[in-house]
Amino acid sequence: MKVAVVVAAALLAVASVASAAMRSYEGEQVLRVRVLNKEQYAKLNDFIEANLLDEWAANAHKRVSLLFFPPPFPFLSSSNRGCAQFVDVRMHKSKIPALETLGLKYTVHIDNLQALVDEEQARLAKRVVPTKIRALPEFFDDYHTYEEIDEFWQDLAASYPDIVNYITIGETYEGRPITGVKIGARGATKGAFFNGGQHAREWISNPTVQGIAYNLASLYYANDTEVVEFVDNIEFTIVAPLNPDGFVYTWSDDRLWRKNREPNAGAICIGVDTNRNWGYKWGTGGSSNQPCSDTYMGPSAMSSYEPQAVDAYLKSRLSAGIDVLSYIDFHAYSRTWLFLIY
Ligand SMILES: [Zn+2]
Repeated sequence: MKVAVVVAAALLAVASVASAAMRSYEGEQVLRVRVLNKEQYAKLNDFIEANLLDEWAANAHKRVSLLFFPPPFPFLSSSNRGCAQFVDVRMHKSKIPALETLGLKYTVHIDNLQALVDEEQARLAKRVVPTKIRALPEFFDDYHTYEEIDEFWQDLAASYPDIVNYITIGETYEGRPITGVKIGARGATKGAFFNGGQHAREWISNPTVQGIAYNLASLYYANDTEVVEFVDNIEFTIVAPLNPDGFVYTWSDDRLWRKNREPNAGAICIGVDTNRNWGYKWGTGGSSNQPCSDTYMGPSAMSSYEPQAVDAYLKSRLSAGIDVLSYIDFHAYSRTWLFLIY
């Protein structure tokens, strides 16, 4: 019995997570602001931009033009059906009187944001992490660091070697590899690309795509008819987190950091919102040109390492004869499907 206890202790290490100097969100709240038309949204958006506030949910009117459902989804209209008519905005309590002058109705959605951050930090501090991360269902019991996520990818490849390959699609500004897996049987000619973690703080998007990868690999080995058909025909590339520098920073310094960590010439603020840096219609639709904004689009289209890595990877698959049909970028939250219109 004593031997068993010693072995268990050797296999486990208590994870140390937050540094003492994590950014504080004391006095910050998340307000749910009612926005019933485009004029009201424009008013709120100006307020958000002027005060560099942090918009969480983007399911109000500004997205109407993006919610276009192409032919594979004829059952959905091109309207904003299913979208709530509100915007969630994080702000310090002291800004509320100024918001009230806009005449918009709101409710307090999160009263004490720091309390939620503290609660999570306390749970993570008690987290017990095995010395070797395995691609097993218990991996999904709690969140994981960048290194642990990377270990999961390596173990998934080692555990299901017939169809899973560990891959690195590029490197970040701070030199971290952007890793994931390629899942497919020999002879697959179609491709699909999924990623999580483009926005650093949207932690749940990483285990979401890892869960997809785990299910594809394990169910293929279990001879699940549907999954075997998928994997025999489609090469899935699954990457997380797409923004490792920002993700690592959410563990060490600021739980709600969203952008990457590249410096901006001539500005004190760090980071580009890589999801505003893509080439298609760069600089339009919810992007900011202010480096201190959480939606900063970067100095030019495709200037950041992360979108460049995805772009180069997808082009390499196309040149390898893989017909890449789908790219899904997972985020949290908003309950929104966004499609490109072209
Ligand atoms: Zn996001």
